[in-house]
Amino acid sequence: MKILYFDISAILIMLIMIAVLFVQNKQWNIINKLLLILYINVLFTTVFDLWSEAYNIWFLANETDSVFRYFLYYGYFLSRNMTPLLFQLYLFSITDTWHILKKKPWLKPLFAAPYIVVCLLLFSNVFFHNVFYFNNELIYTRGPMFYGLHLCAFVYFVSGIIFLLAYRKVFPIDKLTALICFYPWNLLAILVQAFIPEYLVEMFLNTVSLFMVSSIVQRPEEVIDPVTGILSHIAYRADMKKAFYLRKPFRIVVAQLVNYQSLLTILGSDACGGLMKQLSTDMKNAFKDPLFSADLYYLENGMFAAVSGSDDSEYCRRAARSFSDSVNGSLQMGKLILEMNSCLCVFRCPEDFEDYDKMMSFVNSFSSFLPADGSVTCLEDEDDRQQFNIHLRNDIDHIVSNAIEKNLFKMYYQPIYSVKEKRFTSAEALIRLKDEKYGFISPELLITAAERNGTILQIGDFVLDSVCRFMAECLGMKLPIEYIELNLSMKQCVQMDLKDKVLFYLSKYELKPEQINLEITETAANTAQDIVEENIRSLSEHGVAFSLDDYGTGYSNLSRVISLPFKIVKIDKSMTDKVFDSKINAVLKNNLRLLKEIGIEIVVEGIEKKAQLCQFEEMGCDFVQGYYYSAPLPEKDFLKFIKTENHQ
Ligand code: C2E
Ligand code: MG
Ligand code: MG
Repeated sequence: MKILYFDISAILIMLIMIAVLFVQNKQWNIINKLLLILYINVLFTTVFDLWSEAYNIWFLANETDSVFRYFLYYGYFLSRNMTPLLFQLYLFSITDTWHILKKKPWLKPLFAAPYIVVCLLLFSNVFFHNVFYFNNELIYTRGPMFYGLHLCAFVYFVSGIIFLLAYRKVFPIDKLTALICFYPWNLLAILVQAFIPEYLVEMFLNTVSLFMVSSIVQRPEEVIDPVTGILSHIAYRADMKKAFYLRKPFRIVVAQLVNYQSLLTILGSDACGGLMKQLSTDMKNAFKDPLFSADLYYLENGMFAAVSGSDDSEYCRRAARSFSDSVNGSLQMGKLILEMNSCLCVFRCPEDFEDYDKMMSFVNSFSSFLPADGSVTCLEDEDDRQQFNIHLRNDIDHIVSNAIEKNLFKMYYQPIYSVKEKRFTSAEALIRLKDEKYGFISPELLITAAERNGTILQIGDFVLDSVCRFMAECLGMKLPIEYIELNLSMKQCVQMDLKDKVLFYLSKYELKPEQINLEITETAANTAQDIVEENIRSLSEHGVAFSLDDYGTGYSNLSRVISLPFKIVKIDKSMTDKVFDSKINAVLKNNLRLLKEIGIEIVVEGIEKKAQLCQFEEMGCDFVQGYYYSAPLPEKDFLKFIKTENHQ
């Protein structure tokens, strides 16, 4: 007597899994379609299994039904042996390796061969009863070729495991394990069934193995963004890694809503989520042409991406422009009129970015240098690449690491004029790097790249060392330079050992703490990081002064700025340029008066004209820095400049 409960449970579990697949899936992509077919196939197999056994139990004596009995067994074997083939197809889908089958067409029949053999064996069984038959007592009996079926399944078993091991890097370890376990788990099912035939556990164990795969590999909460219902940023990262690993060419459109944060503040998170959902629907419409067949992703914080294997560049641009109409311009929401500013870019991989990291760093930063007016920048166009320095941005990591290795950085010094003493009393140290191919590299680009790739601390050490050495040289020559200012990057400000480092270089060159001055930007000063405040306080206690750089560019948290012990505030060039604007002039006047009242000294940066100088002198600023006096100079030129200018 056979126990049927395992099959009944398997059917129930399978039905639930199919229902869950329907409920959870918002995207019927090839992966989900194949998974559904796989589930249905296992469901049919189990039904055939159960039916044939139930049939044996209930109608054993009825000989006239043997054709139907054969039908049930054929159904069972055909669908049972289809499972490993479908699973292999599912593996092609989740590894996104269909293109390999397309490239090597001989692989297709190779993968189908074992199943074709199964079909041939079962067909021959009709005539020869060589796989299975019912004996005189109508008992199911295995024929000599029965193990041919197992052999075919074993071929899929071996090829599946080899395939998974070959593409192991495509999966995180938990998913890889779940997928590999599918095979031994099924082998176990066959063995248990062979040794304890009365427990019909084979399909039950088969179902359990699929359940494991679906719950570990197929996690819709990872793949689908809960706000927009399109693919999530997690799926994006996984898919992009996969595409680069498999060297699969693709085209991508990225769109960034640059004022997302302000929309979020105005609308609140629910309404802003609603807006993102609306934009994702617009995106679906813009990219709906099946020729392009793009996967759509929401990368959070107002960023969208459409990725396609299509090589139709023109179509891609058209879709991007059409999406730009939705994501840029004014928008009415209830009684609110909102402005959306977006930046869009189209590029190809691997042509435009040879590896995953470069591509990701571009996607994370493109909105900071491309126009945010809804226009579509296309990196395939050489003009666009030139205009936005894409070649340089691509090479910058290499340029920086090469410069560190070969010690190519130089420090330039820009003289700072003291209004009171009517001579140059200090200077700002500014880093310079000249590349053979690109010439002088903008320090902003260089510092941003170094912050991103982690080399900034090495560069910071170089700056500290060079500046201290140069200051000691100036003192040795008895130049009347009182201190040199040097810029600290955001990352240096949060260094735990910043104080020790600075003190080390001071003592290395026997300098007094007041002979250098550390500049930090408004943004760095305003970060909610206790360590920044602690660094400023402890170094100030040791006598090292701080300047607040780029004053007027950020959203100054005045109370915080005042609470920190800054000796100097440096007015940014963007403000200097607007000194003749009556409103800015009034604000500057009042700001300078306030700052001077609490004992802070003022440096004005970017003075280029005599008239600007007069204005700031009138306002009572203490120091002036700018091309009006001198651009930043190499060491020798700076020494010459100071010697001649200060002795006039
Ligand atoms: P910053 O600290 O505000 O430096 C002043 C910038 O204004 C310098 O640009 C200087 O060359 C430029 N400048 C000075 N006077 C004039 C003028 O009259 N007209 C114009 N058009 N420009 C003027 P630079 O050297 O390109 O540096 C840009 C920024 O890069 C610096 O802004 C600073 O934030 C950063 N930087 C430069 N060197 C270093 C460094 O050694 N370490 C760190 N962490 N950042 C640095
Ligand atoms: Mg500065
Ligand atoms: Mg500045």
